Amino acid sequence: MDSLLIGPATRKQVVFAGTCALFVLLTLMIAGPRAHQTLPAITPFMPMCALTVFTTSGIAAFLLGARFTVTPQPMLGALGGAYAFTAITVALQLLMFPGVFTRTGLFGAGPQSAAWMWVFWHAGFPLLVILAALTRDRFPSKPIELPDIDRWAWALIGVPIVLAAALGILAIHANLSTPFHTAPETNALSGGRTGFVICSLDVLAIVVVLLKGRLRTVLDLWVTIALLASFADACLNLLSMDQFTLGWYVARVFSMLAPGVLVCVLVWEVTVLYRELSEAHASLLLTSTHDALTRVYNRSYFNDQFRREFDRAARNGQSLSLVMVDVDNFKDYNDAFGHLRGDVCLSAIAKALAGTARRSSDFVARYGGEEFALVLPDTGSEEALVIAEQARLAVMQLGMTAPIPGGQVTVSAGCATNEPNTLSTPNALVQAADAALYDAKRAGRNRVQSVTP
Ligand code: GH3
Ligand code: MG
Ligand code: MG
Repeated sequence: MDSLLIGPATRKQVVFAGTCALFVLLTLMIAGPRAHQTLPAITPFMPMCALTVFTTSGIAAFLLGARFTVTPQPMLGALGGAYAFTAITVALQLLMFPGVFTRTGLFGAGPQSAAWMWVFWHAGFPLLVILAALTRDRFPSKPIELPDIDRWAWALIGVPIVLAAALGILAIHANLSTPFHTAPETNALSGGRTGFVICSLDVLAIVVVLLKGRLRTVLDLWVTIALLASFADACLNLLSMDQFTLGWYVARVFSMLAPGVLVCVLVWEVTVLYRELSEAHASLLLTSTHDALTRVYNRSYFNDQFRREFDRAARNGQSLSLVMVDVDNFKDYNDAFGHLRGDVCLSAIAKALAGTARRSSDFVARYGGEEFALVLPDTGSEEALVIAEQARLAVMQLGMTAPIPGGQVTVSAGCATNEPNTLSTPNALVQAADAALYDAKRAGRNRVQSVTP
């Protein structure tokens, strides 16, 4: 199945993504110089953002992994891995953060453990996206054949998870000193060399994604936006490492945007696919139950529905009437005007017959060739005779010329009714209506005959 994610991006999508990119860059330019500005402290803001990043990254990883099992493009699975990595690192960072769960952080975290987890998260994500982008060469050609697709999906998502967990252990036990040694004379960022490396990795990831994909697909567009958000997050964080500053707050919002955009795109894809699927299902249902030429129900629908109506009528002790209608001398019509005009004539007749149905349970089906069946649930023989006569007149009122003595296209009809509490079968009712129809033919055509089996 084709994935919309790796399909070409429409102009509208490019404009929308471009606007988002502009928004990220403008916000960065406005917030950057004011990054140190102190704002009121909202203590739950950090845990709330971290939890959001964890949840959305987890969902993005799951959806990308699931997408990969359907459309085995390595980039989808590898990107899923990048988001799985983000989910675990951000969760570990939150758990180790001093003062969130315990005063010094969980798992015996040292004073620098959470800071290192932040570094691993922000360096690991662009690095893994670069690796994912390097596998991109494969599309838009056909997806690769992977016999053990589920195992590949587990590996692509699982390895980054194990890596994130290993880095968590490293952050706790390696007794690492602060990752943000600053040499004030060399770097404006308070994050020092580490900060510079992280921002460079984001820029490098954007360059690789741009070079590899040239923004051709929907995925290229939104991965670029996610990386831009990640870059803005890292820049603002490093411009002001103190909590509750403008830079710190905006950075947190951008950290939520990086997985958030992908989740939105993935959910959009699922929604579009669902809509297409339900449209395809509706059209399949229509073509499987309707006759292509006359648009009334087809024989297969008649067979099923007539049997159902028969059983329902028997259960409820109601009458069921069937009118078999056959176009008179239709062979002559075709011989005189050709089959194409014959088709037009049949369509018009079907429409006229359908117009005589009164209740929602009444229906007209093309029984075969130039024969139609009018099924009338809860209708007695006299009423059915009236409806059959109306159907015959409706065809005459079409006023279609025919190469026969009357000069007009006509139909003959045979009515049969299964009265309540009669021991009969659907086939017996069809045979009875058919017999009545042939009576009408023998009696001179353009008339209605009825029998009660
Ligand atoms: P009768 O009054 O006894 O029913 O005579 P008739 O000529 O209608 O009956 P016959 O069974 O000899 O011919 C039926 C004709 O219906 C022959 C066939 O070509 C035509 N027919 C059946 N299906 C179609 C169709 O889908 N399109 C067209 N144009 N003709 C069709
Ligand atoms: Mg006929
Ligand atoms: Mg016929």
